[in-house]
Amino acid sequence: MKRLFILLTPLMLAACGTLNTNKLLSAGVNLATSYSITDEQVAAMCAEYMTYQDSLSTIAAATSPYTIRLNKLVSGIKGTDNLKLNFKVYQNEEINAFACGDGSIRVYSGLMDAMTDEEIFAVIGHEIGHLKHADTKNMMKQAYKTAAVKDAIGAINPTLEQLTNSQLAAIAVAYKDAQFSQAQEFAADQESFNVCIANNYSPYAMYNALNKLVELAGGNSGSASKVAQMFSTHPDSATRAARMKQTADEYVAKNKQ
Ligand SMILES: [Zn+2]
Repeated sequence: MKRLFILLTPLMLAACGTLNTNKLLSAGVNLATSYSITDEQVAAMCAEYMTYQDSLSTIAAATSPYTIRLNKLVSGIKGTDNLKLNFKVYQNEEINAFACGDGSIRVYSGLMDAMTDEEIFAVIGHEIGHLKHADTKNMMKQAYKTAAVKDAIGAINPTLEQLTNSQLAAIAVAYKDAQFSQAQEFAADQESFNVCIANNYSPYAMYNALNKLVELAGGNSGSASKVAQMFSTHPDSATRAARMKQTADEYVAKNKQ
């Protein structure tokens, strides 16, 4: 993901190092059929994966100011197309956030420290965009396919239980290397714009959030090292910010008429 905001996945696997085989097995997915893997199977896989990822992370307590702030931001959120979302704050100074195909959205405390409420909300809107467009599920699917082809999992047609750790690791690597396309990022930004408008946030919220990332990634006060790799691609972030400014400008001009 030279992906800005996230999604997930690659980061999670990066954090894992080795894949928890039992977690994957319990998802009940037969990788041999990865080419026809169902939406439900992918969602189950993502849910298992999030349980695992959460267990590796320090989750802010319900009474934490971070959790209270996040819950306030997403309380009664509109424009989510009835997605079943769940939110948690990871106590981590990295400036990052991601979503997973089961509706999980995780926001890092580092991002919350660096951004205003409005900017955080815009980032959440961007993640919701990836969920609405099934980007995260498709990325998970793609990782299966890539690993299956590479390791000839399909050729020997094993059940999931027969997969070796190295085959599972191949899936993790494929997942880690996966990237959202620029088109997917643009589409998620646009979705954030829509969600911000639906919730009475500024039309410039996503633009401001992207600008903040560009600033942080280029900062020399130590902030750059905290910006997740996926956010630190300057030209891409700057291009996205410019697009979102244009979108906001057009919206404001239109609503003045
Ligand atoms: Zn994104």
